[in-house]
Order: sequence, then structure tokens, then C-alpha cells
Amino acid sequence: MITVALALALAPGGRHRLDVPLPPAPREHFGHGDALVDGRLPATAREPGTPTTLFVNFDGVDLGHCNPSNSIKNCHWYNDASPIPAFSGSLQTRVSILQAMRRHADMFGVRITAVRPRSGHYTMLVYGGTEEDFGALGSAPSGDCYDAYPDEIGFVHLDGELVDWVVAGATTSLHEAAHTWGLDHVDLESEIMYPEGDNTPTAFDDACHGIVADVDLTPGGQSCPELNTALCGAPDRQDSVQALVELFGPPYVDETAPSIELVEPHDGAYFQVPGDFEVELELDDDLHPQNYAMWAWLDGDARPAEPNLTVAPGFHVSALPVGHWRFHVAIADEAGNESTLSFEVEVGVDPPPEPEPSHGCALGPAAPDRTVLLAALPLLLAAARRKR
Ligand SMILES: [Zn+2]
Repeated sequence: MITVALALALAPGGRHRLDVPLPPAPREHFGHGDALVDGRLPATAREPGTPTTLFVNFDGVDLGHCNPSNSIKNCHWYNDASPIPAFSGSLQTRVSILQAMRRHADMFGVRITAVRPRSGHYTMLVYGGTEEDFGALGSAPSGDCYDAYPDEIGFVHLDGELVDWVVAGATTSLHEAAHTWGLDHVDLESEIMYPEGDNTPTAFDDACHGIVADVDLTPGGQSCPELNTALCGAPDRQDSVQALVELFGPPYVDETAPSIELVEPHDGAYFQVPGDFEVELELDDDLHPQNYAMWAWLDGDARPAEPNLTVAPGFHVSALPVGHWRFHVAIADEAGNESTLSFEVEVGVDPPPEPEPSHGCALGPAAPDRTVLLAALPLLLAAARRKR
């Protein structure tokens, strides 16, 4: 039998319902108790107690059709008729949502990133569209006990009027992700798996609570009676924290340093005095994006004691005098893993040389590529010193 995220009536008391009522899945793929075949998980299932990745896709998608949904193949059995636009919230808002999600998930092995993984299993949350357009704060396939289908896709609709709902952004995302992992609604209002929500903080609760089928808190609808019995001694009670630990093991530990790539200027670039340019960096990290600590200094100067904290590392250099200059940049992620980068620029009196004439397309000298300007942090280089 098929279960989907449970259909809900309009939320009383001004709270928002968390799940869009969904059409039935076009064919069976999982349901109550189906995760176990002859008492064992099917061969396709992921191994319980091993970590997974949750990819929050803020960038919009155009999903193809498939069942069950599949993040790697980018397809689903609903919300596949038209594209879902990118989330309109700022990078800082996205980072705040991810940070809140990571705090909620710090009891079990889920890595949360907004960068699509290049390999391995991952759950995808499409974060886009409005509650008004979709009818609830989110939706997801449910009933996948033991996360036997580890590449499912859920949806969060908090754009528009709710664009700044960071608390609800995090809790709704985890609510929908947890549905794809086989968790059900419970009857505790302060729990993330309560069937209604708003921007009030909730959390996964490490205690057994009654599983409910709707916002009237009607008992029933459990997807994973074997796991519930193992953890709570009853098929119709759920301990969200213990269930997630059972599925994903101990907390994800960030031991990966960010990678830094210099986008602009190129190493060895020449500028006419006074040197005035943006330093644009491209970062990648296992928990990207996040708040990075950045130190930037000139060769021969001391590294600054205090970093700049930024979601978009990069800085502006102004009034750099004539000379050869070597810059050092160090960037640390929130766990303190650090990487460094060095590059040189030359500042001279003469204008920069004309670019080589191009063949076939004579539109004049190419303009410097400055189309991608990251939020720049001022790097105040006080006076001309320490040439190299
Ligand atoms: Zn739900």
C-alpha cells in the first residue's frame, strides 16, 4: 500500500499546515512495513546506521517524471509538470536556514549542504515556491521505512511572504526530509514532526510520542511499526531522535577544509596605479555555504588577529601603489578547518597592455571580466610599504 505525506485539513488557530495533500503515487513502491522482506531490508536499501547527505536545493529545478522520486535522476511523481523557481531569499538567509538545520541534525549522521553532491546517495529538498501556490509549507513522499529509497525528493514552499522565515525554513525542511526517511507525524506540538508549524521553534524530541494521521491528531498512519516497536516498545509510537540515530548513526563531523580558488584577478595580474580591484574567490566545502572566517594580508605584514566573518569570501583592494605585491588569504570553515591561498599582482605606471587582436570577431578590446562581484569586504591597505 502507498502512503504519501499525509493530507491535512486547514490548520486551526492560524498555524500553517506542513504538508500539501498529495495525489496517490502512480504505482506502489513502498508502504506500511514493506521495508522488511522476510525480516530483512531489500538489497537496494541503504545500510542502517550509516550517514547520509541532505542537499537543500535553493537554485530551482525542472523535474522529470519517475517513481519513486530520485534526486540523482532529478525526477519525481508529482511537482514534475512545471519548473520550481529558485528561492528568492538572500545568501545570508540560506546560510541561516542551513545553520539552523545543522544544529537540529547534530545528534545524527546527516551532512547538510546546498551544493548538489557529485556522487553517492542523497536526499534532495527543493526549497522554492510559495505556500499560497502549493497549499502548504511543504510536502514529501512518506512511508519509506528505514530510508530504503535513499535518494528521494521533498519540497519546501517558504518563498514570497515567508521568505525570511528562517526558523520555519529549517524545521519544515527537516520535517519533509524526515518524511522521506520514513518518519511520521507525532502528537507533540513542540516536535518537528508535528503536522502543523509556523516560525515558532520546534525540535526533534528524544522521547516516544504517539503517531498521528492528521491535524486532528487522530492516532494511526504509522509507516515503520518494526522500528517503532524496537525503539518505543509499541508500533504506534515514535522517538524521532532515536529513529534518526538508528538510520544515520552518530553526528557528522566536519574534518574537511574548504577549497579556495582565485577567480579574479589572475595570479600575476597587472594594474595601472592606483591599483583598485576586487578579489573574487570561489569556495567549496563539505558544508557549503556557511559563515566562513577570512583573513587577508600582504606579504611582510602580520596576519590579522581577527578574521572577517562572511558568507561570501572576497575583498576589495584600493589605492595599491606601484610595486609587486603578494597577497595571502586564509579561510576557515565553522569547524575551524582552514585553507590558505597566495597570489601576486603588479602595479605600474603604464596602462595595461592592449589585449592581442582577436581573429574573426573585431569588437574591440575585451572588457575585463567583472561580471561576478562577490560581496566585497574592504581590505584597507594603509600605505605603500613592503614591496617584494
Ligand atoms: Zn508532514
